[in-house]
Amino acid sequence: MQFHPTGLWPSGILVTEGCRGDGGYLLDSNMERFMVEAEPEKQELASRDVVSRHMMQRIRDGFGVDSGFGPHLWLDVRHLGAEHLQTKLREVWEICRDFVGIDPAEELIPVRPTQHYSMGGVRVNKDGQAYDMAGLFAVGEAGCWDMHGFNRLGGNSLTETIVTGRLIGASAAAHAAGVSIDLPVSLAFDAVAAAESHADEWLAREGSGPSVYEIRDRMGETMMTKVGIFRTGEELEDAVETFRTLLGECDEAVLRSRSRGANPELVFALRLEGMLRLALVTAMGALARTESRGAHFRSDFPLRDDAEWLNRTLARWPDGASEPVLTYEPVGPIDLPPGHRGYGRDERIEMRQSIEDYNAAVDSEQTRHGRLPPAEPTGSRLRWKEWEKAS
Ligand SMILES: Cc1cc2nc3c(=O)[nH]c(=O)nc-3n(C[C@H](O)[C@H](O)[C@H](O)COP(=O)(O)OP(=O)(O)OC[C@H]3O[C@@H](n4cnc5c(N)ncnc54)[C@H](O)[C@@H]3O)c2cc1C
Repeated sequence: MQFHPTGLWPSGILVTEGCRGDGGYLLDSNMERFMVEAEPEKQELASRDVVSRHMMQRIRDGFGVDSGFGPHLWLDVRHLGAEHLQTKLREVWEICRDFVGIDPAEELIPVRPTQHYSMGGVRVNKDGQAYDMAGLFAVGEAGCWDMHGFNRLGGNSLTETIVTGRLIGASAAAHAAGVSIDLPVSLAFDAVAAAESHADEWLAREGSGPSVYEIRDRMGETMMTKVGIFRTGEELEDAVETFRTLLGECDEAVLRSRSRGANPELVFALRLEGMLRLALVTAMGALARTESRGAHFRSDFPLRDDAEWLNRTLARWPDGASEPVLTYEPVGPIDLPPGHRGYGRDERIEMRQSIEDYNAAVDSEQTRHGRLPPAEPTGSRLRWKEWEKAS
């Protein structure tokens, strides 16, 4: 889960990275530019996860600015001037005006890190085909291709949607052209009937059970406080327990609005169990991973551990099971041993295996975990200058 450093406080609406790219900086309650000391070289331009962690640490250390909604920090773009803000950063200027009623050319912007992007998703092969499920393709933020690893870099979603959108779109079209399916029409009617009876069951529930919004709020609060920027084993265990309880409570929840027409509460209720399952998968995966890597930071295991954890978590939820099953596959063929990221001290646990041994097992291990054979083998590369011949 990626956090973005500058969500407008308290709404969480994103204030673009462009602000810091253009020279904006972060201030604490003492008007100190804490990022200069925290990351002397990159300062406010350090990676999203790094800046988010320093911001939260600053708030934890008591240098947050008090507000009725909890502490925040400041983003200062006043020195960029009104003309720059109203032209090059017009959206920020408008968001500040419309949502907190301030003019960022004159006033400081209240900010705090906000949840931003999901690096996980439907695990797919190179062609975008889901593991174990021929015919199911996933792309974009919903998919887990091999682009971001544990830390998407800013702007890379654009690449993901455009590049993989084209590649995977073509491979899905090729797949569809080569298969025919023979299904009884009753299958579709049965699926509609099952969905309708699920909705009817929600509408018919009586009693004094919790509302779906109460469950949502407890899920959100738990995700923010226990599965957020800083994680510990103890907090993650609490979170796992809370999500198990909330999943149970889902069966008791009662709707306040019984309308069969446009009913946002019913729409939300139909999504709630899926959201809770995803929350449980995220918390269980984070609890099991006793290391820190990219956006996943364990205060009790602060080092990246390439000896034990140079792998990707796969979560499956078997039919009828009450919990997901977690397994691990190698991340893919690698060219070099993972090095120092360039932030803080160079402290990490190095991989013990040789690159050759690691890579030799990738294909068979990923296949064992359900990867369908891609049209082109994993790890095949364009040779140097080959693209010149193609053009
Ligand atoms: C505020 C913000 C700023 C960002 N800025 C940048 C940036 O500057 N650069 C960058 O690279 N990335 C940025 N990102 C990330 C990037 O925008 C997203 O990762 C990207 O848009 C995801 O595209 P997508 O097509 O995969 O998914 P989406 O854009 O989320 O599209 C999914 C679509 O599926 C629809 N849908 C969902 N469920 C159903 C259903 N059951 N049936 C039918 N339709 C359904 C949704 O309505 C939606 O239209 C930003 C993200 C945010 C939130």
